[in-house]
Amino acid sequence: NNLLRDEAVIVLLELESQGFEAVIVGGYVRDQMLNKPSYDIDIATSAKPEEVMAVFPRTAPTGLQHGTVTVIRDRLTFEVTTYRKESVYEQHRRPASVVFVSDLHEDLRRRDFTMNAMALDARGKLIDPWGGLADLKAGKLRCVGDADARFQEDALRMLRCVRFAASYALDISPETWEALLRHHGLLEHIARERVRVELEKTLEGPQPERGSALLVESGLLSHVKGGIPLEPLFACALRREGEARAGTIESLETDERTCLPAHADKPEAAGADLSTPLAQLTPAPLRWAYLLLLQGSTQAEANTLLRALTFSNEKAGQVSGVLGVREWLQQQGCGRAAWLRCALRFGSEPLLGWLRVAGLHPAAAAGALYTRDPQGLAALLAAGERWLRELPVRALSDLQLGGAELIRVLGRPGGPWVSRVLARLLEDAALGIVPNEQEALLDRAAQYGKEIDLP
Ligand code: ATP
Ligand code: MG
Repeated sequence: NNLLRDEAVIVLLELESQGFEAVIVGGYVRDQMLNKPSYDIDIATSAKPEEVMAVFPRTAPTGLQHGTVTVIRDRLTFEVTTYRKESVYEQHRRPASVVFVSDLHEDLRRRDFTMNAMALDARGKLIDPWGGLADLKAGKLRCVGDADARFQEDALRMLRCVRFAASYALDISPETWEALLRHHGLLEHIARERVRVELEKTLEGPQPERGSALLVESGLLSHVKGGIPLEPLFACALRREGEARAGTIESLETDERTCLPAHADKPEAAGADLSTPLAQLTPAPLRWAYLLLLQGSTQAEANTLLRALTFSNEKAGQVSGVLGVREWLQQQGCGRAAWLRCALRFGSEPLLGWLRVAGLHPAAAAGALYTRDPQGLAALLAAGERWLRELPVRALSDLQLGGAELIRVLGRPGGPWVSRVLARLLEDAALGIVPNEQEALLDRAAQYGKEIDLP
């Protein structure tokens, strides 16, 4: 991290030596004032993009229309952006093109919050015309200048406001909050991808309950494009501790935690509030599953909602898989056999995710099973992870018998029966009914001859 700062200072000095101004701006300065680690540094300069490209041997024109050039030094890269203002905002969004200016103060004026409108020069001097440091010290999040204007210019700032307030445990100043309440409807102009990114950072950040509460109170959620029912979803995070926790199974109280997968226990960021159910839940994307479980969604409903919110197929699938596990267990029961068959069907990731949520909140994670079979559920929570670990086969490719051998040894023409028999053998091997050895599997297959319509 010192290396990062040293390299950035070299970039600043290099620009200065060519007669330009250059400073570190934005998130890095804010995090520095809070003694928080940060992993990238943005630079602002009076040099125009072509001039920046002329100063450094290795650059990439990453966002020329916004005045941004990436400067590449050994392994580190820096985004260097020309001082600019965003004179015309169209449709309450950030403009497609910008106007360059010569004065740093002009540049800082167009930023969203006072804590994001500070700069550091090469000698470590803080430039803070909007009082960002004083606001940070007072724990206040405040718009630069007129809050109404800032939110009307770019409606995404309202979501950033909620996200920063939650992630940095700041109070939103009253003028800023009141302006947000006046303009929340403008969020309709913002692309869903950008909305989704902010919601992810809020829910997956260090204070997810507080972030959810602010999202709900702000009224922003009902103005996300596409009429996605997000407000009831985030409202689930606000259920009283008693309600959310009513689910602890008596017999599990002592050891329910110890059976949980031990991986990925690292809190997302320093200052994470580990006392709340959502914040305890890692990896953080599982928090989406937790809310969807609390809401009683099915796998299909969860997937539809997440896709509407522009989540990748991959992430939507990982999250909604956890809901699929609950549906499966509700139908099949929570014994060892049902659990292992579930693993064959879904793969172990969603099961481990489900276990993790169930450890915190068995009632939500298990649904009807929670009251129908508390003993079975307790046993599953205590042993589910071990059962998964000990699973001898996970997929057909693990099976010591392939379709070709099966056809040859049974001496019958191939057909749909082959995959049916292999699927049963896989299940049998997974459950330990038959060892995963060719001889034993073939014997078993021959027995199936009577049950399955072999030709
Ligand atoms: P983080 O990277 O932790 O999300 P950040 O503050 O660095 O937070 P970025 O999106 O990287 O956020 O933006 C860098 C800087 O650009 C911000 O600190 C802020 O000064 C400015 N900025 C970013 N988005 C906006 C916006 N929508 N309106 C005004 N200024 C913005
Ligand atoms: Mg940043």
